[in-house]
Order: sequence, then structure tokens, then C-alpha cells
Amino acid sequence: MSAIAVEERFGPYGGRYVPEVLIPALDELTAAWSEARDDAGFREELDGLLHDYVGRPTPLYLASRLSERVGHRVYLKREDLAHTGAHKINNAIGQALLARRMGKERIIAETGAGQHGVAAATACALLGLECVVYMGTEDMRRQAPNVERMGLLGAEVRPVEAGARTLKEAVSAAIRDWVTNVGTTHYIIGSAVGPAPYPALVRDLQRVIGDESREQALAAEGELPARVIACVGGGSNAIGTFYAFIEDQGVELIGTEAGGEGLDGHHGASLVAGRTGVLHGALSSVLADAEGQILEAHSLSAGLDYPGVGPEHAQLRDLGRARYEAVTDAEALRAFRELALSPPTQSRGF
Ligand SMILES: *Cc1c(COP(=O)(O)O)cnc(C)c1O
Repeated sequence: MSAIAVEERFGPYGGRYVPEVLIPALDELTAAWSEARDDAGFREELDGLLHDYVGRPTPLYLASRLSERVGHRVYLKREDLAHTGAHKINNAIGQALLARRMGKERIIAETGAGQHGVAAATACALLGLECVVYMGTEDMRRQAPNVERMGLLGAEVRPVEAGARTLKEAVSAAIRDWVTNVGTTHYIIGSAVGPAPYPALVRDLQRVIGDESREQALAAEGELPARVIACVGGGSNAIGTFYAFIEDQGVELIGTEAGGEGLDGHHGASLVAGRTGVLHGALSSVLADAEGQILEAHSLSAGLDYPGVGPEHAQLRDLGRARYEAVTDAEALRAFRELALSPPTQSRGF
């Protein structure tokens, strides 16, 4: 199929800024993925699970009343209808299958909002793998139902007390575990971040969103969309969606980041308001001070309060191929209500 190498860099971004002890594991993962992604047996098993277990393809839904209101035909790619309620499961199942193929029976993961932890725990329960999930105690408090779900699925949730007790600290704790147990353990990173090959691996596993969307849009409209819009936390659903459209120069790609209180206050907009720096093993656009110290990110949304972003987005931004905008907590809540409510009800003072 493809002779394209698993990318280590995206322009200047990406790479592997990790302790020496992890390099052999990253090499092994790179080799395993470049083999598995072209292996018909692996593809068949993954595609079968995505279809029968996850429920793919997810619908592309024309939100007709919203479309009338905004004056454009707006389609929603319903990743919320994938099993466990988000796109995270596409990546978690792919990586869990890959771990099994590499002979690794212990899985670790980090989680912010809990969606990735639930997806990883689900994939491990499905395939009979041991699962440990690191989660900041502030996120455990905000997302208690997901903590309970992971427990039901047989995963061990390990509380992380450091720093702001959210996603950044959970990733750091997971990396420390991996350094210690790298021989037996695979680390399922939840977004298109981290050292190579993760950004390319996670993108490849999430590109199913864009491939389906492109086909569904063509079938529905007979032409490609003018704009493709996706939210960017670490950037996995966005890169998975954008990837199918990158060569289509007429399609505008727009990523929305967590603008928090606004760019003058606390936010999580690492592409719009960040600088080049290293976080969790990769060079990318990060929230950091002039000395390069990573800053605390803020978003109303658990999981979007992460001070970094996948390196491929930093490259797409620099190339001008994708445009990124910060959306504040207040704007996001207003849009959420507008999407949820029909116009007459909406005027009743929300
Ligand atoms: C995890 C998650 C995000 C952010 O992660 P990305 O890697 O940027 O996609 C956004 N929305 C939902 C529903 C999520 O679960």
C-alpha cells in the first residue's frame, strides 16, 4: 500500500525529546506500526472492530435548522455516536491491537476528561489486556462518572497529585511509568502528541474520521465542503479529519482551540498564543514563558486545559494550510446552547 515512512518530524516540529531508555521502545513501535498498517490481516481485524464494535461509519448529519439560521449547510460528523461517546476509541483500539501484536500485555494511559481513559479501558477489556490509567485528582473530581466507568471495565485509575492535578501532570506520570516498565508495557497516548512515532500513529488511526467525512460529504452534496472545522485539544480528531482534505486546496481547514477566559487571561490556545518549545517529548507550539517554562493552561472543559498541541498542527499553521482560532469558554457555551436548542425555545432567556 504506502511506502511513506512513519514521520518523525513535521517541518521543524515533532522529534523525540525523551530519556535515552525510551528510544528502543519508540523504534520498536515505529517498526511495528509501519508493518501493521500495511498488513492485510491487521487492517481486517481493526476495520472489523471499528465496524462491529465501535459502530463505524458514524453518520454525517445535516443540521438543517441550524443551517437555516447560519446561512450555510452545516453537517455534523457524529463521533459522539461512536462507542464510549467520542473519537478516542478509534485510537485506543488500534493501539491496543498493536500492543498485542508486539507482545505487550500491560497498557498504561493518561486521561484528562476521562474519555481517553474510558476508551483505553474499554479496548483493554475487549482484548484481555491489563490497564493502568493516570489521572489528575482535580480531573477525577470533575469527571467522577468516568472514573467509575474505568473501574467497572477493570482498569486501575492511579491518582496524580502533582501541579494543577490535571492532564499535563497525568501525562508526566504515565511517561515515568513507561520509563520504568518499558519492556512489558505499551503506553497508549490519547492524542496526536508525544515523541515520534505517536503523532503520526495517532493521526493514522484517526484519519478514518476524515476519510469517512470526505466520502459522505461527496455523496450528500456532490462536491467537497468549503470549510472543515474541528476542535483542537491535543489535536487528534482535528488532524484525523483534516488529513483527508489536505490536498484539496479549495477546502479551508479551521481548528478551534480553548480560548478560556480570553487570550489576555488564562487559556489553552497553544497554537494561537503559544511559542515553540518542548513538552512531553516533542517540539511543538506550547504555552511557555520567555525562559521556556511550561505555563498552566485553562479551559472550562476538562481535557482541553493542556499547554501543548500535536506537532503536525504547528506545521499546518506555519504553512498557512490550516487556520486556528481561539474560542473562549463563554463563546463555546453559547454555541453549545445554540446547537442544542431550537430557535423559539432559545429566546427564553438562556
Ligand atoms: C479528547 C477529546 C477532545 C480533544 O482531543 P483531541 O485530541 O484534540 O481530539 C475533544 N473532544 C472530545 C469529545 C474528546 O473526547
